[in-house]
Amino acid sequence: MKMNLSLRILLALVAGVMVGLLLQDNPAFADSWIKPFGTLFLNCIKLIIVPLVLASLVTGVCGLGDIRRLGSIGWKAFAFYLATTGFAVTLGIVLANVLQVGAGFVIPAGDLTVQVKTAPSISAVLLNIIPTNPIQALAEGNMLQIIVFALLFGTGILAVGEPARTVEHFFSGTAEIMYKITGWIMLLAPFGIFGLIVPVVAANGPAVLLPLLKLIMVAALASAVHVVFVYGSLLRLLGKVSPRRFFKAIFPAMAVAFTTSSSAGTLPVSMRCCEENLGVNKSVTSFVLPLGATINMDGTAIYQGVSALFIAQVFGIDLDLSQQLMIILTATLASIGTAGVPGAGMIMLMLVLQSTGLPLEGIALVAGVERILDMIRTCLNVTGDMACAAIVNQWEGADVADTQAQHNRVQTEQI
Ligand code: ASP
Repeated sequence: MKMNLSLRILLALVAGVMVGLLLQDNPAFADSWIKPFGTLFLNCIKLIIVPLVLASLVTGVCGLGDIRRLGSIGWKAFAFYLATTGFAVTLGIVLANVLQVGAGFVIPAGDLTVQVKTAPSISAVLLNIIPTNPIQALAEGNMLQIIVFALLFGTGILAVGEPARTVEHFFSGTAEIMYKITGWIMLLAPFGIFGLIVPVVAANGPAVLLPLLKLIMVAALASAVHVVFVYGSLLRLLGKVSPRRFFKAIFPAMAVAFTTSSSAGTLPVSMRCCEENLGVNKSVTSFVLPLGATINMDGTAIYQGVSALFIAQVFGIDLDLSQQLMIILTATLASIGTAGVPGAGMIMLMLVLQSTGLPLEGIALVAGVERILDMIRTCLNVTGDMACAAIVNQWEGADVADTQAQHNRVQTEQI
């Protein structure tokens, strides 16, 4: 049944690309008649995100039974996220240098102005973490604020103990209900994915892609290398899980991320894939995945690094080593501040360009293929979150085993 779903999703993707290519002369038809199925699917998944994240995070904290364990999972996940993101952007920059991503690109004669919303500063992002009104945070779907509130709330339940038991049951029941609904929605995934991919292919046929093909190829290559070598070896060495099994298990989530371009939107699916197909503990997924969908964006970091180099090369600007290191630093931070929604990475690219003194107009160049780049990077972003969940699960499992062994030793010694 699980395999069937992956297969059906794959078929839907292939069929979507083919139908999209056929509809290139008539993208309006794809927009009005096929896209609505995709939008419907997307809305269905979005419907679950806020209650799922709140309920499963609160339940996850309660399930840990001890706040120190939350700290231990939190630090491991955060260190993994930061290290892999730093590596990802470095890899992107190296490949962009070696393959000369911007070489041979002729700036189109048309105007180079594009309206991009201003990027918030890093300090504003950090200050905004604490919700002044949790209900507003939930209503607006502000993920970072919801995470902070849910962690506090769950910790509060642990501290209060018995009198708060009913509240704990309410949230664990809500989380179960949301998982069930996610399962139902996933049955629609092949139709939804078909509806999402057709209009993208119809509107971005070869004519749009060709001039910027090199940029897309370098971003895709860096992402593929990151997946195969970095995640592949970390999964094998630290997660003790075969990459083959891992990718088979998470394929539905990768496909949803690819077509929706939203890490946050993919969250219910990634939680389900990790728990049901990979056997990752709920207390790990419920914390590591929402956090990852909000702050861990390896694909976005690669995109920002490669795009910055592309813009510099197209405008004939030579970047010295310190400037390239600056890109690594700012792209790592900017990707952390990027929201898990479509197009957010392009807004945060401004931050990277600004801090390196590169022309902001360059964004207009990469904007032409933004959707395609967003699909690639979101797929990588979500894969990184799930790799982290599998690895932290193994570490935590080992901790539990250690504690158990120690406990058994003490018992034996006492006897
Ligand atoms: N769309 C990406 C995501 O949801 C964020 C980005 O635009 O880079 O992960």
